[in-house]
Amino acid sequence: MNYDLIIIGSGPAGMSAGVYAGRATLKTAIFEKQPGGQMGSTWSIENYPGTGGTVSGYRLNEDMRRQCADNNVEFVQESITDIKKNGETIEVTTELGNTYTCYAVILATGADPRKLGIPGESEYRGLGVSYCATCDANFFKDLRVAVIGGGDTALEEALYLSKFASEITLIHRRDTFRGSKILVNRVENDPKIKILYDTVPVKITAGSDGLVNGLVVKNVKDEQEQTIPLEGVFIFVGHVPNTGFIKNTGLFDMDDQGYILVNSEMNAGKPGIYAAGDVLQKEIRQIVTAAADGAEAAINSAHYIEEIEY
Ligand code: NAP
Repeated sequence: MNYDLIIIGSGPAGMSAGVYAGRATLKTAIFEKQPGGQMGSTWSIENYPGTGGTVSGYRLNEDMRRQCADNNVEFVQESITDIKKNGETIEVTTELGNTYTCYAVILATGADPRKLGIPGESEYRGLGVSYCATCDANFFKDLRVAVIGGGDTALEEALYLSKFASEITLIHRRDTFRGSKILVNRVENDPKIKILYDTVPVKITAGSDGLVNGLVVKNVKDEQEQTIPLEGVFIFVGHVPNTGFIKNTGLFDMDDQGYILVNSEMNAGKPGIYAAGDVLQKEIRQIVTAAADGAEAAINSAHYIEEIEY
């Protein structure tokens, strides 16, 4: 199948790019693994302009998808395993062995939750360890949970969990939060949330039933360890970019953590190669900034395609 533009990833960056590309009459496909990206599993979004103050990630995702489809953008549920460039033609191969061609690619694959790497984390995933409060909070009604992390995600998810859990211990490795003041104020004033500063998780334990029953933590100042009895551990300690599959293509510029580097036109390396959203090396990762990146990448890729076609 031949396209003008292939967008990889269907989060807000990818779908915003889709809307702009569709409207520029580019034959466009969005390849996706997890529809909606991180946005799709976000409980409530309060800062996306024009949504009336609060909208669920699910709803915003559905609206963006519909807008892409209305602009003739196709969604393809195949994971891309390789990208090659021969002259002006870019060839994309998927896990099913299918090959698609296009003139420009926009990488909008976002980032996945970072793991702590402590004992018990991978063993008890789904048995009390979770990376998604929206998905799993319901299982922890009237139970005790810990939330690990000090960024906006940890703070937001702790607040969300306080609607379900009986008590939340919010554990941050420093004495000041990285997340925004408004969220810090809310967690500090939530009677169900207890904050442990200067504390790192050491080990997650489980009972004979295989379900999580405790979290061993250590105070980094006095080195004292304690075990918190609980049923759930929610981990929100940042993300790692989804760029493993393009690392060896030689088409993308990236930093040593795998985040993509772009110029002012969102070009990410070779001609016709663009990137947008949380996969980029940048300071601010918001839905609105991802959407803006996607729009810019699509407009610039449309200009590029026009130039090489005529
Ligand atoms: P983040 O801002 O990178 O925060 C990650 C947190 O995890 C930091 O507090 C960090 O501690 C901690 N951490 C990292 N590795 C750790 C480890 N091994 N052990 C213990 N703690 C560890 O990530 P995020 O919260 O997912 O947010 C990502 C981006 O999305 C941010 O730009 C954020 O503003 C944005 N976001 C915005 C909203 C919103 O506006 N509504 C909601 C969610 C996310 P240190 O602080 O010590 O580094």
